[in-house]
Amino acid sequence: MATTLVTEELLYEEKPLYVPSLQELKGVIQSALAKNFETVSVEVGDCPDLKDSFYGLVDSGLGGSPLLLEIGGPPFLLPLVQRSKVYNLKEIVQKALPGEGKILAIGAGAGPFPLRNSNCEGIINLAIDEKGVFKNGSYTAKVHGPDEKCVLERIPENDPRCALLMNLFISRGAPGPVVKVKCSKRIGELNFVECIRLGLAENYKEKCVGMGGIFVLKKGAAHQHVMRDFSKTPLTTEEELNDWLKFYNMPAQLNALGTLITHENDLDLRLQHFHSFSKSNWGGHYHYDTTPEVVEYEAYLNVAERVVRVDRPLETHKVGRD
Ligand SMILES: [Zn+2]
Repeated sequence: MATTLVTEELLYEEKPLYVPSLQELKGVIQSALAKNFETVSVEVGDCPDLKDSFYGLVDSGLGGSPLLLEIGGPPFLLPLVQRSKVYNLKEIVQKALPGEGKILAIGAGAGPFPLRNSNCEGIINLAIDEKGVFKNGSYTAKVHGPDEKCVLERIPENDPRCALLMNLFISRGAPGPVVKVKCSKRIGELNFVECIRLGLAENYKEKCVGMGGIFVLKKGAAHQHVMRDFSKTPLTTEEELNDWLKFYNMPAQLNALGTLITHENDLDLRLQHFHSFSKSNWGGHYHYDTTPEVVEYEAYLNVAERVVRVDRPLETHKVGRD
């Protein structure tokens, strides 16, 4: 069966977000992380050049009209896959951030299964230049072979596709101030992303705050999943879902891209979603680190001005949001 790219008739919804100053966010994030990590440093300062090979992004910064964007959702994957849900990221990203200037989009979702002839994770790292030229530096991660090895592969530079579900942080890729986080030795139970998100939620109460960017797991290892190929039997519970996912303990260095937001905001939003790539075969969906004694994180995050929701599943459920 041929797969068509659905783009024309997609539902787009949008809401403004509450935008605290980076200085204020610095304080909130510092105190949240201090409860969960022994050593914490949070600063506001210029983003390092994220094109540096240590970070591996296709553009330099996280500045310029930052927004969060979510496409589709787990209801298109579970209980059974909806194979029509293949999206053109170039068109969607340009529609979400119109006007002059380049675009950087990074984040986590489902990779283009027609490319791999298999379901796969998508680790999204793409840019569109001022002339509209698209450059994809994204990866897929898949479960491969009888020994179920994790395989990380680059998506071809001109392939704009993803599938099913996606969470992106989008900006002009410009240099400028971000929240810079370093923390090490985990002393609490929360994972890195959850710790920040819950700290924001506790502080900002009913106000909806969204952030996105990159974190690097520099030392230690993380419990991460990669989706196996599509299930032929319906997955209806978290238990069935977790049996279907393939979990790995992936070693550092892992570079994770994604988003977090404090509320579903009446848009059925996923509250946090980060996928990581590496310079080895490892890539996948971050759950938590497994090495509290030695773990080290470094992160660069910016705050989003608005959230754009694309092709929100009208029949929804809460399975598969972890
Ligand atoms: Zn994921």
